[in-house]
Amino acid sequence: MASEHRFAILLVVACSLSACARDKGVPAGAPAGTPSKDSSVIDAAPASVPSQPAAQAVVSGAGALQFVKDIVACGPRFVGSPGHARAETYLRSHLKGIELQEDAFTIKSPEGEFPGRNFIAKFPGKKDGVVVIAGHYDTPYPLRKSGFVGGNDGGSGTDLLLELAQHLRKTQLEGYSVWLVWTDGEEAVRAWTSDQDSVYGSRHLAETWEKDGTLKRLKAFLLADMIGDSDLNVERDANSTLWVEDLVLESATRLGYQSHFFARTTGMDDDHTPFSKRGVPVADLIDFDYGYSNVFWHTPNDTLDKLSPRSLEIVGNVLLDVVRLIGERK
Ligand SMILES: [Zn+2]
Repeated sequence: MASEHRFAILLVVACSLSACARDKGVPAGAPAGTPSKDSSVIDAAPASVPSQPAAQAVVSGAGALQFVKDIVACGPRFVGSPGHARAETYLRSHLKGIELQEDAFTIKSPEGEFPGRNFIAKFPGKKDGVVVIAGHYDTPYPLRKSGFVGGNDGGSGTDLLLELAQHLRKTQLEGYSVWLVWTDGEEAVRAWTSDQDSVYGSRHLAETWEKDGTLKRLKAFLLADMIGDSDLNVERDANSTLWVEDLVLESATRLGYQSHFFARTTGMDDDHTPFSKRGVPVADLIDFDYGYSNVFWHTPNDTLDKLSPRSLEIVGNVLLDVVRLIGERK
């Protein structure tokens, strides 16, 4: 996950299934104040919209969590590692029968060069234009000897996308096409610096798509990062596009999930940054408060027991609804 530099991006994962909310540094709905040294809390607003009955699940959180288990079983997935190669094979095997593009590139890092590979699964819609939903699958190179497996950071987004692929392969999209993008090299290889040692895969993709004209077809770039936390609190991201963020809240509210969204506002530097810099509307769905003061972030404690299928389901359903709403915009 992203580590931010201006505001220090934290990864959010979850607290354990048995001990959640009380571990959070900033209770949902509380005046957001208390930023940790790493967090980028700018503002917070209580989520006070009246609750509505939750919508019927479209995305299977249980299915997504099974994918997380499998990807974690690949082991650490830092660039150049055997676990990374196993994750690539795993992605390919679960995307058979879908139009899949592999975008190979070279990660030129302070620790040397590594092979990088983005995966792009394409689902055609009826309208001319594309909405991208992205998530990274790599884990940090500097943590390669720590036992870090990235259940939430790297695992949750990757595997929610795999679950979305299972849904989309059975769906006729009435609006724009959807491209699911598994980005590589999101993590810093030595230490996070914007535009240098970070988001290698999304920078490569944004540059490539700018050159070949694909970027003009993008209606929005939606990012899912650290969204498996059982104590789910998706941030409002001040570095994302306001109207896309507003659609996220509109969907969350309509589906009855609003208490999990936008209690705090942060400023994230993540895989969406190279696209927002090029004028693509973006939204980073990230829960950057993973255990008390983000204590599980980038530690060997980022494990499956901190995650909840319900959180994956909530974010998956919101993403699909946002895609629909974008398709209905004039
Ligand atoms: Zn990370």
